Amino acid sequence: MPPDSPMTMVLPEDQVRDRVHRLLPELWNTLSDLVRDRSVAANPQPQLAVTAQTIAGLFQKAGITSAKVETIGEGADRSAPMVLANEAAHPGVTTVLLYAHYDVQPADERLWSTKPFEPTERMDENHDMRLYGRGAADDKSGVVMHLGAIKALLGNRGKLPLNLKLIVEGEEETGGSKLEQYIAANPDDPRFKADLIIIADTGNIERGAPTLTETLRGIVTADVVVETLKGKVHSGMYGGPAPDAFMALVQMLATLQDPKTGDVAIDGLSHYDHGWPTVSEASYRKNAGVLPTTSLIGSGTIEKLIYGKPSINVVGLSGLPLVIGSANVLCPKATARLSMRLAPNQDPEAAFQALEAHLVAAAPWGLKPKVKRVGEGSGFISSPGEHHSEVERALLESYHATAVAKAGQGGSIPLVNAFQQANPEADIVLWGCEEPTANIHGVDESVSQSELEHMTLAEALLLQSVMSPIPIQH
Ligand SMILES: [Zn+2]
Repeated sequence: MPPDSPMTMVLPEDQVRDRVHRLLPELWNTLSDLVRDRSVAANPQPQLAVTAQTIAGLFQKAGITSAKVETIGEGADRSAPMVLANEAAHPGVTTVLLYAHYDVQPADERLWSTKPFEPTERMDENHDMRLYGRGAADDKSGVVMHLGAIKALLGNRGKLPLNLKLIVEGEEETGGSKLEQYIAANPDDPRFKADLIIIADTGNIERGAPTLTETLRGIVTADVVVETLKGKVHSGMYGGPAPDAFMALVQMLATLQDPKTGDVAIDGLSHYDHGWPTVSEASYRKNAGVLPTTSLIGSGTIEKLIYGKPSINVVGLSGLPLVIGSANVLCPKATARLSMRLAPNQDPEAAFQALEAHLVAAAPWGLKPKVKRVGEGSGFISSPGEHHSEVERALLESYHATAVAKAGQGGSIPLVNAFQQANPEADIVLWGCEEPTANIHGVDESVSQSELEHMTLAEALLLQSVMSPIPIQH
């Protein structure tokens, strides 16, 4: 067989497994180095560009020579620096798009057991090595999975018989990805067209249980602002007849949930049911850190509540000083930032309008609150296409498992909906290393080494299974 025969590209499963295993120490070190980079989403762009450049270099070294740092969009719609690559092999072969993001949530060092940007290894009670650090799971593990899968298959050969596209973006955590807006507005841009889209930014329902994420909730973020006075005044001299903006705001916020059940009490929001696997109350309580004395709220099973129903929370407040440093003055203006998660089939625009109407109607004493839209994103419901069975098989083989769990996710990745609109025929795979104990966005975020190995292997097996037997050109 000549060395560039397509048949030599397809490696036996054991050989792929072995290659991924041998690559693991290197991937683990790469992940550790990436965690050291403080690529917090809110950082200035030149700082983010450094991380993007590092990642582009890693892919170039792995043989993805087209990898480069770019921005998309213009002016105010210009994106943060992202890594794009496009390795065109041959017309007619499968086009695969790999997606991950390198930006991370901020981290409050005082709350962490070890410094969030000084990656630390610790063995867990299952004798699995974990790497602790902000972004170790969300989503630098996704970047490393893609890198590992490519390295395992490519070795020192030329090109894979695939059209391979890569997007590693830098503003997923901002709640307003410019990339999502861009793809929604330019669905025909060839850079974002593919037959198979692999989003490495979710995780298994529990460590070691191979899982595909089939639904995502949508999101609406909004600020409600109440103003009652021109400025701060003495609470003794004026308190009584003059309404305190914060007290008014609290009355409005209290109406957002049913006082007995805790269900979201906004009219007109949809619910969705998908037959997700059961999420036990014990594991939910443990992973969420719900105090033993706190009862859970909301009607229905846990999985329905976190995957299929809306939720609403206050995530920010302004207008009041901290308790220490406060004085006896009336609050003239108060703002609450609300984060609403939506059923996967809910239109975010309709949800925002329902929220606005609710808050305006709930305002006491004839006050006229302003409700401002901060961000929104659609949910996602997968529709299995041509490559669906290969996706499942790759997961099963990687884990030596007999079943794949079909989960939902309570979080939102609005970009996925934009990909689906632009590629209605494509299979969109949502998987990754963010199992519940990874505690993404929280303190002591970590990633499991065995999950990184298994998921990298699953991705390598999947890529190999969709390769076309068309001669590779050198
Ligand atoms: Zn993420």
